[in-house]
Amino acid sequence: MITKSAEPFSAAIRELTNARNLLVVTGAGISAESGVPTFRGAGGLWRGYDATQLATPEAFAKNPELIWEWYRWRREICHVATPNPAHESLVEFERAFPRFLLATQNVDGLHARAGSKNVVQLHGTIDEILCKRCYRASKNIDDPFEPPSKLPTCPHCGKLARPNILWFGESYWEGVLQKVASFAHIADVCLVIGTSGQVWPPIALALEAQKNGATLIEINPTSGELTPKADIWLQGPAGSLLPALWSQLCS
Ligand code: NAD
Ligand code: ZN
Repeated sequence: MITKSAEPFSAAIRELTNARNLLVVTGAGISAESGVPTFRGAGGLWRGYDATQLATPEAFAKNPELIWEWYRWRREICHVATPNPAHESLVEFERAFPRFLLATQNVDGLHARAGSKNVVQLHGTIDEILCKRCYRASKNIDDPFEPPSKLPTCPHCGKLARPNILWFGESYWEGVLQKVASFAHIADVCLVIGTSGQVWPPIALALEAQKNGATLIEINPTSGELTPKADIWLQGPAGSLLPALWSQLCS
């Protein structure tokens, strides 16, 4: 645990230089510079609907056509988007640190497309469907650029399927949080990037790492739930700050 620093960038470099085990927790903000809208802020509205109201089991039960239309629009954005320098820097971090785990709240697949390997997708993936009857997950084979002729159905039993995404108000899948929590016990630094902190479990993992001795570094242009608790706050966009950290670490 370090005291709050007047020179956060230098303090972050010092902590990262001395670290061996790095835990990274990312949120929607890391993909903002790839053109994927965040939920909170200007991008959180679609046709006047608030994204946090659409991403719920109740909304799907009430109007699956509307929710699938929203997800088809979001899939299209994710497929057009490409990883930005923040995603790419994390691939370098993974190669450089002896032990590395990336826990992402994002469903866009951009970390994997950038080349990150040890990734836990806490909230699922936009390219999979989940059967409402047999609970099996499958790849979404619909073309995100074409309006579908029917709603996605389970390839095993034919029943209506939903996106394989953890929605607001739902419990995490078994084992997912535990895997990250085990790493939180050995992390020397926990880097939290682009999350407002309003979804609590990912933040709890970061605080768990801090409780076990990790230095908590946040990267975000604006302060959120976690900021008062972070040891170091690097205020700015991830697409500039992560490459800057990486280039300083290499020099
Ligand atoms: P959020 O929408 O609540 O907050 C986004 C955060 O990113 C804000 O704190 C904002 O200040 C910050 N931010 C904006 N631009 C940034 C930049 N260039 N660099 C760094 N930070 C930046 O996002 P959340 O906390 O991840 O919670 C939203 C939930 O919705 C999550 O559960 C997530 O699964 C889901 N979601 C995912 C995606 C995606 O897959 N890309 C997009 C939207 C929402
Ligand atoms: Zn099924």
